[in-house]
Amino acid sequence: MDARRKRRAVGVYDPANYNDRLLLGLKGTMSEAELHILKARMLAGRKAKAGRGELGKPVPMGYVRRPSGEVTFDPDEQAQTTIRLVFDLFDRFRTVGKVMTYLVEHDIRMPVRARNGPQKGDLEWRRVNRASLLNLFANPIYAGVYAYGVRAVDKRRQKPGRPGTGRRSPRAGEAEIFLPNCLPAYISFERYRRNQTQLQSNRAAWGGAPRAGTALLSGVLVCGRCGLRMQAQYNNNGHAARYVCPSMKSSYGEAFCQSLKARPLDDLIASLVLEAMTPAAIEASVALAENLEAERAAIDRHWRQRLERAGYEVERARRQYAAVEPENRLVARTLERAWEAALTVQAQLEAEYERLKRDKPQAPSAAELSAIRELTDDLPALWRAQTTTPGERQTIVRLLLERAPVEVVGRTEKVRVECHWHGASHTTHELTRPIARLDTLSTYPALTARAAELRRKGLDCAQIADILNGEGWRPAKRRDTFNAPMVHHLLIKSGAETVKYRRRPPRIERRPNEWTIRELAEEIGMPQPTLYTWIQKGRLSCRNAGGSSKRAKLVSADPDTVAALKAIRATPSPWRRIPPPPVGKQLPPTTES
Ligand SMILES: [Zn+2]
Repeated sequence: MDARRKRRAVGVYDPANYNDRLLLGLKGTMSEAELHILKARMLAGRKAKAGRGELGKPVPMGYVRRPSGEVTFDPDEQAQTTIRLVFDLFDRFRTVGKVMTYLVEHDIRMPVRARNGPQKGDLEWRRVNRASLLNLFANPIYAGVYAYGVRAVDKRRQKPGRPGTGRRSPRAGEAEIFLPNCLPAYISFERYRRNQTQLQSNRAAWGGAPRAGTALLSGVLVCGRCGLRMQAQYNNNGHAARYVCPSMKSSYGEAFCQSLKARPLDDLIASLVLEAMTPAAIEASVALAENLEAERAAIDRHWRQRLERAGYEVERARRQYAAVEPENRLVARTLERAWEAALTVQAQLEAEYERLKRDKPQAPSAAELSAIRELTDDLPALWRAQTTTPGERQTIVRLLLERAPVEVVGRTEKVRVECHWHGASHTTHELTRPIARLDTLSTYPALTARAAELRRKGLDCAQIADILNGEGWRPAKRRDTFNAPMVHHLLIKSGAETVKYRRRPPRIERRPNEWTIRELAEEIGMPQPTLYTWIQKGRLSCRNAGGSSKRAKLVSADPDTVAALKAIRATPSPWRRIPPPPVGKQLPPTTES
């Protein structure tokens, strides 16, 4: 008994004893609660300090923190110039990748102040990398903003024992504390916002940055069949662009979803864009903007009235509270609560109204409108100018067009395009694409039926072709009109005609010692292309015996020439260059070719 009292006096408990165990558990819970409260207080203090913009954080490159705690530009002139250059480069290239390439090509390094180690605080020139550039553009400090919580910690991604892990990618829009005009700025806040928008639209999910290729709609086009993005592919040295949906092939090993030639679709969208930018269309948009302005004024009036009413409610609650006798405490307490509630409602309304005013896009001013009107007159010329790059055209299209689902109807020449313009308006268009085969035309059955019908009336192919052209039928590609062989082919393929139609070759009168090229090649055992080369070089005489076909070319070669040619053929190639003895007036053929 005495021993136990002694143990308690020095704080030693016996876990085998029920009362001691209970006490131990309670003490443990209390110290845990104490830890929690301590931590919460420290965090609250930290946030309060951050809310005043006074919480010291490590500053990124281009800035230094003075011993006094003040944040200033890096005193090194070159460091400042480099940061400014990077922002200028982003204005010019508009993608992080291109800025990085430029910096690497010109061997420009980034000014970083060492955070720790013996060289702490010294300026180090480090190799540029993508992550540091992305951080540079994402960090609002360069626009003079003090922000806290830009890279919030996601508890689920934190690793035990490593407090630095689990930080999300920077999201300035979701920062807990955002105080503009607090710090020296490299760029204006407007420019910072513009860069953020640009970075966001550069992401693949948003269509990516404009490309170098000639295809106008890369990044905007969506497959109407599977809903995934279509790609531009180039062959023929970049001249023949096609839009392809490769997703089914790359993901499931199936055939291409659909593909079509880029040119007709590009032409259609270009004409739509230019149409949207004609002065008349712009005037209509301007009128719409003025209507919107009237609408906004109405909404604004409505909000003012709501605020006025809320103010009146607050004033009334205040008066009621003031009128009550101080002794009547119960009533006073109720009235006080009502006053507080009215004040809360008013504060909420005011905050909402501020947000509404901030979010609504500003209507264009008179000067801006006149500038727009002037520009629209020049736009078609600008669009077609040689100096306008494909990337600039793509940018214009992206400014107007949000996305464009496109669907090829079956395997036919018909293409359906839906244009989703910015501003939530849709238009639907139909397009005829060139296709390789006549029988995939949507009009093929009707076309063959019409041709067969005309054939049964006893017309020949040329007459049928004329009639079909007159009636507005169009072939698949390469030509705009039908001709007689095409009609004949069509009739045979559709089974309307079984006899092969072939013009008999004209009869050729031969002079003595004349050969066709094929005959001569077989006679001397020489490849035909060699004989053609000799003819081109004038070493064999030859004439055109009517018509343009190769069959009508006749080579004159007497028995001596044939023998000489055979001798050349029999000579092993290293000695062939020795000229054979001349035969008659004719130049001896040599193998120099
Ligand atoms: Zn697809």
